[in-house]
Amino acid sequence: MKTIGMLGGMSWESTLSYYRAVNEGVKQSLGGLHSAKIILYSVDFVEIEELQHREDWEKTADILSGAARSVELAGADFLIICTNTMHIIAREIQEKISIPIVHIADATAHALQQDGIRTTGLLGTKFTMEEPFYKGRLEDNFGIEVVVPEEAGRDTVHEIIYHELCLGEIKPDSRRRFLNIIAGLKEQGAEAVILGCTEIALLVQQDDTDVPLYDTTAIHAGRAVDLALREG
Ligand code: GLU
Repeated sequence: MKTIGMLGGMSWESTLSYYRAVNEGVKQSLGGLHSAKIILYSVDFVEIEELQHREDWEKTADILSGAARSVELAGADFLIICTNTMHIIAREIQEKISIPIVHIADATAHALQQDGIRTTGLLGTKFTMEEPFYKGRLEDNFGIEVVVPEEAGRDTVHEIIYHELCLGEIKPDSRRRFLNIIAGLKEQGAEAVILGCTEIALLVQQDDTDVPLYDTTAIHAGRAVDLALREG
């Protein structure tokens, strides 16, 4: 079994979901007392979050590249960055390490393609919904059309992520607001919706809506398990 490198803490609430998902995945495949081999570097999220909102991506790249190098030196075979947003600097991190980064948007795009989804909604932080690093990758590399909520909806999603979900606060009213926004994306032509922030599945699950949901945490963790267990 290969060793999974993880950059976590963004937020630690979703890193817990990843930790559980990769261990459950390995246990499901190998059975018994098997568990995942993991090197986890978990950052102090407040440092990252402050830099994000100042759009000081260079400094975030310094911090996360250093963390990624530590993960590589500790013996990881590949790296997953346990947040959609910080894939904005995935290329900069990749330049500093020699193990591969398994990109969360690529893993998600493959899952959408397998199900024949051509137009998808995308929910995440404003960085993920508005900057080209994520939508552009889905559109240019995979031919998947991406729709996002209008500005007020994007503000709502962003605020709930940072002020509730990353703090572990799960509120029924916020769930209702998310479900309204998901219904709006369907009206805009989305056949499915990407939960493009690793905390959203703490609030909204498939049972809450008829719109097919693609939870990036589950998909990314599942991809890591497949790679860890693959021969060669
Ligand atoms: N975990 C979130 C994401 O997947 C948001 C927190 C962050 O900015 O990393 O984008």
